[in-house]
Amino acid sequence: MESDKGMVLPGDFLGTSEEYILGNGVYDEEGNLYALHMGDVNISDKRVISILPKVETPPTIKEGDVVIAQVGDIKDTVAIVNIACVKGHETREIAMPTQGVIHISNVRSGYVKELRQEFGYLDIVKAKVVDAKALRLSTEGNDLGVVRAICAKCKGSLKRKGETLSCDKCDRIETRNLSDDYGKGVE
Ligand code: ZN
Repeated sequence: MESDKGMVLPGDFLGTSEEYILGNGVYDEEGNLYALHMGDVNISDKRVISILPKVETPPTIKEGDVVIAQVGDIKDTVAIVNIACVKGHETREIAMPTQGVIHISNVRSGYVKELRQEFGYLDIVKAKVVDAKALRLSTEGNDLGVVRAICAKCKGSLKRKGETLSCDKCDRIETRNLSDDYGKGVE
C-alpha cells in the first residue's frame, strides 16, 4: 500500500487523474485531484483514491444544523469555509477542526456556472449542514447564503442593491449568492 500520504485538509492536492481513479471525498479540477474534506488518504489496489473522514463529527454539529461560516478559499467546484458557530448555539464552542465545504451543486437550486460569482473570499455565509461527517454544507434556500461581504478591490463593505452588491467606497459592483438576511448580521 502506498497510502502513506497521511492526513489531508480540504483542498490539498493529492495527485492527478492519470495516477488515480476518483473515489469518495476527492474532487477533480482539470485532471488534478484534491481532498474535499479532512481525513486520511486511502489508495486501493485498483488505484482508487479516497479520503476517509478521520475526525469524529464535532458533537455540536449535526445534519440539518444551520451554521455561520467564513469563506477561506474558493476553488472551481468547492468553497472551503471555516465554521464559526451553530445557529441557536452561538455560545457553544465548536470542536476543532471546523472547516466545511460547499460544493457547487449545493450553492442554490439551478445551475451554477462560476462559483466565484456566488461567494467571495472572507464572506460570511449562513449554511445548512447536509453531511455532518464530511462537513458538507448547502446554501440552497432563501435565508441561506452570503450575509456579509467585503469589496474584493478596496475591502470596503458591500451594501445590497437589489440582487447585486455595491461598494461603499469605490462603487464596485459584485454579485453573490445572497441570503435574505444579507446585511442584517448573523443573528
Ligand atoms: Zn470597494
